[in-house]
Parts: sequence; C-alpha cells; structure tokens
Amino acid sequence: MELKCQIQTYDWGKIGTESKVASLYKIANPEFEIGNDTPYAELWMGTHTNGPSENKLTGESLSSVLNSHPEYLGEPVREKFDNQLPFLFKLLSINKALSIQAHPAKQHAELLHREQPNIYKDPNHKPELAIALTPFEALCGFRPINEIQNFVKNVRELRAIIGTDTAERFLTTEDGAGTKEILKECFKNMMTCSQDQITEQLKQMLQKFSFFDEEKRNSQLAPLVERLYSQFPNDVGCFAVYFLNYLKLKPLEALYLGPNEPHAYLYGECVECMACSDNVVRAGLTPKYKDVETLCFMLTYDCQPAELKIFKPTVEDKYCEIFKPPVPDFAVAKIMIPHGEDYYQLPIRNSASILFIVGGSAKYNSIKLKNGSVFFVTANEKIVIENVTQDLLMFQAMANL
Ligand SMILES: [Zn+2]
Repeated sequence: MELKCQIQTYDWGKIGTESKVASLYKIANPEFEIGNDTPYAELWMGTHTNGPSENKLTGESLSSVLNSHPEYLGEPVREKFDNQLPFLFKLLSINKALSIQAHPAKQHAELLHREQPNIYKDPNHKPELAIALTPFEALCGFRPINEIQNFVKNVRELRAIIGTDTAERFLTTEDGAGTKEILKECFKNMMTCSQDQITEQLKQMLQKFSFFDEEKRNSQLAPLVERLYSQFPNDVGCFAVYFLNYLKLKPLEALYLGPNEPHAYLYGECVECMACSDNVVRAGLTPKYKDVETLCFMLTYDCQPAELKIFKPTVEDKYCEIFKPPVPDFAVAKIMIPHGEDYYQLPIRNSASILFIVGGSAKYNSIKLKNGSVFFVTANEKIVIENVTQDLLMFQAMANL
C-alpha cells in the first residue's frame, strides 16, 4: 500500500527546495507545490494523530485501515502494543538547532503524564534513532569529565555562570566517586542561572572571541557558540556545548538516544524513528516551555567520549543492515542495492513495516519505485525488488520483536 504522508513546517526546517523533505516529497507527489519561503522540517510516516498517513489510492487513513485489519500488524505487535503501530518514522531537514532536550523513561513518563497532562500529553517513553543522510551535527550526552573540566578552567564566562565556588570544587574532583553529583550541580547552576547574568556573560564571551586567533577560537568552540547565538540570542543553551559532546555524523552513521540522554540536533538531514510519543523535556535553544527542574533531575550524568555515541548496525545479508536499539518499539533496516541487480528479496518481517525510498531506481511488483515514495508493508509480506538501474537506497522501519 503506497502512503500519502504529511509534512510539518516547523520554523527550524530547511527552506523551499533546499529541504530534502520538500524535494523528495515533490518527486513522489508531482502535484505538490514547493513554497519558496516555507521551512519544510519533517515528513511523518505512521499513524500519529498530529500527522497521520493515508492510503494514497483511497484516502483512507492508515490507522483506520489497521483498525479494520489488525492482522496486518503481525501477531507479536498486536499482543505487545495493543493492536497499534508502535513507532513513528520521519525524515528531518534541519537548518537551525532544535531545543536541548531529553526524553523520560517509561515509568517517569507515566508519572509526568499523570501530574502534568497538559505538558506531557501521553504516558509513553520516546527513545529515538537518527540515521544521517547528509553530514549531520548534533549535541549528545555528557562529554568525558576531563573535557568539561578543561572548558570550565579556560572559559571564564562559563565559570561565572556555574559559580566560582562550585567550579572550584568541580575542578579539584578526580574522575570517580562523587563526580556525578558535582557535575549535576554545575549543570543545574548553569541551567538555573538568571537571564541577566546569562545575557551579560554571553556578551562578554562573544566580544572576547572576536579578539582570539583561529586556534584559540577553536579551542573554546567559538564558531559553534556564535552560530547558536545567532539562532537563539541570549539563550543559556549556547553554554551547553561545553557540557555535551559535539558530534558530526557522516552520511549513514547513526545515533541512538535512550531515556534521560540530553541531546540537540543542530544541522543536516536524517531519517528518524521513535516510539509513538510526544514527551519532550526541554531546557534550552528554544522559545518553547522549559522544564529545567525535571530535566536536571532526570539526566543520568554519564560521561562518554563522542565516538562511543555512534550506534552501529548489524549485517542481515549482503544488501541489508539493521539498527536494533534496546527497545521493542522499533528497529530500522538500511537497504542498499547496487545497480545491475535483477532480483533481491527483502528479509521477511514478523511486524508491519514502513518502507521509505530515498534514492536510486528499481521496480517492485512491476511498479517503478520513485524517490520519496513510502509504502506500508504488512507483516510477513514478501517483497522483491527487481531491475535496479541506479543504486537503490531505502529504509524500513518496523517493530523490534
Ligand atoms: Zn529528541
């Protein structure tokens, strides 16, 4: 079943034809007119009520199709997820940083939803997997403690907003017992620092950067801070780069974000899969509601080097690798079939899946596959790709059972 999916025009999206969301959508839906000034941020593939996909031929919503035919989901999914598709699949085109955020674990999400249902709208967790399509930048997880200590030592303005006393104790802490507590105190002091102080220290810091030479600028992450400042002037999130790993993913490298892991996507394009939820605890780089208290409380304060954040797939066969995060809600297969291949059968899945064609040219059931097209595949369905005339790249999201 080919799906017609919905686009979200959030302001951080890439503009007009620059956006892969718009340009791929246009290939699959030629009647679509790309607006020159519109930010095309996300394409949503799934049954989420804020952007439900529908059967392209009949216009019936996918959730209505699944209500009439729950057997399409597959037995394990029906049992585990109460006859619902458990994941939401997306394409993202990011021009401007998304907020610094973390997502609660399942139990914590249930509590937040019970206590503040107007902010935390569902009781579900929201693990996320992002696979880069273009060079992709993100902040993710706490840096190794010695890196953070170096910044605290060398960046006077950072020390000022943490507070000299706390900063001093942090700098004399050996990596080991008690590190997490003092790191948490530093991070919390920063996040709860008064806006006047943040504004003043950022002003001084940017002025200082303008006198630095190239090497010193890079050692204090000046280009990154300046870029974030231009997007979110006076935002405390500009200081967060000194706490969080700055990652640059190459195309087809992936990032998995489990519960309570602080992160912010900064730039680039990716496919993203997540559990069906909207629970985001935000703390910076955003005009939206910030729940600093909850965020500082929930983070794990685990420190790890950036390279350990890259999430590796396992090989399924010669054309297919699968990213299987440690949650039952979803997995994503990356399928690359070289041109010249005449017959390739995808691994059969015990779960319903969504197949998203990103590049290349081939046939499926004698239909010519278009870039940007999206298919719903029922559980245990046999899919054969034929006549690959240009290297084919596609992604398949499914439950992980
Ligand atoms: Zn997130």
